[in-house]
Amino acid sequence: MALPDTAQTPADVLKRVFGYDSFRGNQVEIIEHVVGGGDALVLMPTGGGKSLCYQIPALVRDGVAVVVSPLIALMQDQVDAVRALGVRAWFLNSTQHLDEQRAVEAAFLDDQLDLLYLAPERLRSETTLRLLQRGKIALFAIDEAHCVSQWGHDFRPDYLELSRLHERWPSVPRIALTATATEATRGEIATRLNLEEARHFVASFDRPNIQYRIVPKDEPRRQLLDLLRTEHAGDAGIVYCLSRKSVEQTAEFLTAQGIPALPYHAGLDADTRAENQARFLREDGVIMVATIAFGMGIDKPDVRFVAHLDLPKSVEGYYQETGRAGRDGLPSTAWLAYGLADVVQQRKMIDDSAGDLAHRRRLSQHLDAMLALCETVGCRRVQLLNYFGQWGEPCGNCDTCLAPPESWDGTVAAQKVLSTVFRLDRERRQKFGAGQIIDILLGRRTAKVERFDHHELTVFGVGTELVEGEWRGVFRQLMAQGLLAVEGNYQTFVLTEASREVLRGERKVMMRRDPRKQPKARAARSGQAPKVELSAEAAPVFERLRAWRGATAKEQGVPAYVIFHDATLREIASRMPTSLAELSTISGVGENKLAKYGEGVLETLGSGE
Ligand code: ADP
Ligand code: ZN
Repeated sequence: MALPDTAQTPADVLKRVFGYDSFRGNQVEIIEHVVGGGDALVLMPTGGGKSLCYQIPALVRDGVAVVVSPLIALMQDQVDAVRALGVRAWFLNSTQHLDEQRAVEAAFLDDQLDLLYLAPERLRSETTLRLLQRGKIALFAIDEAHCVSQWGHDFRPDYLELSRLHERWPSVPRIALTATATEATRGEIATRLNLEEARHFVASFDRPNIQYRIVPKDEPRRQLLDLLRTEHAGDAGIVYCLSRKSVEQTAEFLTAQGIPALPYHAGLDADTRAENQARFLREDGVIMVATIAFGMGIDKPDVRFVAHLDLPKSVEGYYQETGRAGRDGLPSTAWLAYGLADVVQQRKMIDDSAGDLAHRRRLSQHLDAMLALCETVGCRRVQLLNYFGQWGEPCGNCDTCLAPPESWDGTVAAQKVLSTVFRLDRERRQKFGAGQIIDILLGRRTAKVERFDHHELTVFGVGTELVEGEWRGVFRQLMAQGLLAVEGNYQTFVLTEASREVLRGERKVMMRRDPRKQPKARAARSGQAPKVELSAEAAPVFERLRAWRGATAKEQGVPAYVIFHDATLREIASRMPTSLAELSTISGVGENKLAKYGEGVLETLGSGE
């Protein structure tokens, strides 16, 4: 960028380029370490501020920083975002014309770049390696480093090649960054990227502005609609579904309700996917309904909610997906609807999955941890943090903190279900699902009950102390706790080793009673950035600024947040600066943005008078 040659400190760059006053968390240590030439492995939650950790060293150190990033579809946006700060950035990938590639190469060799984004597969080509060899490299940044983990859900074979950067460029510092990491994944990243000797920086994985909620699944689309209408009207968000079909159906359903929603899954052609992604990023208030194929690398800061209509396969996946909400630090919701069918389906998928026993066991462990999170009566956040090897206090900002569920001794209820399963299993004539068993327990003489003489079973009508929905909860929890299993292609329940202990009265079964009412209140807590309600004067100003931003973004063909984040516009609307100097003191207003947009902002502020 057009910075003077005099040495710059990281703090200068933070203020001048990014417009921020202070570093967050361990940013400053990471940046100093890399500026000093050290290797680093950085684990920081989404929204924690990872990009600055390589962007500032890129500007402070001599030469060009090479950023390896897995998603070429997002490189243009990444580059646009840093260019808006006045940073000289470009990318090299297969979407470019040859002359453009040549121009980028020339700029690189001439040391006219601060950042060069590369797709990992590029580094397999000798041509690229030779090119890099001829230029001056400030550092290598390996973004989304968990892609090197074979057991993770985002594995990219090309990432394995990155271990060789060190051999070719032993004196160039490398910084690998990721937002997913249990101890196991972190070890795998370090080994595979040859970063055992690197300094590891592990930030807190807490995302205090995200409110975690997990609700019993009833009519998922209606429940979702209710959430959107009551709490997130007009907000941008992501809805995750397991199958392509349910993605399409859900997107259609929302659209029919007048809510702007777009589908995204691997079955759509590349153009449609690109177009839907661009609309989600550029327009305000669009909802993306997607499979987990969507989301990595999306750094839209104002995603206000992430909703799951199906159970994620692991806590890591769940954390990664929900982490896409609220990167701007403003209050956001992570909402998951989960029910018996989810557990049955996931267990079956694991049984049917290819791979050896060890692989299936690993999948089961992932699922069990996810189920434990769903069924906990304790704070969701504490449970999440524990999963990542960290500690926390009950947070006051998750559903279980806001409306604590009770735990109850479900041993007798469990025995009733299990002995019914046992009796039906003995018949061996026909397979029966949860519905039939619940009818039996409730003593309902349905046609199917009579046809099989189930009203003559000793368990007929012994379960009237619970209502149907509660029995479903019992089934779900028995499945979650491994006290009941499914078999065959039908939803047929069978006993497990552990269920025999329950039947013999040797084992107590504690259950969670789902609260009848879901909490809606948002509780603020220390360390959290609550969305300060704008004053009566500031609110219309904020809307004017948003409109100005939208028009400007359209004109320049960039997403609105590339110009200013909501948080910055809110601060401007509240403080009403009257001069460029005053405007420059607002967080998020760096030199380049001040020069480019300062007049526009002041005019917009003045236009209301
Ligand atoms: P990550 O890559 O870890 O998900 P980002 O690098 O996108 O996070 O940062 C999240 C948001 O926080 C961005 O909008 C970024 O500009 C902002 N941010 C990062 N560091 C700081 C800081 N020191 N002060 C204020 N805002 C910051
Ligand atoms: Zn909590």
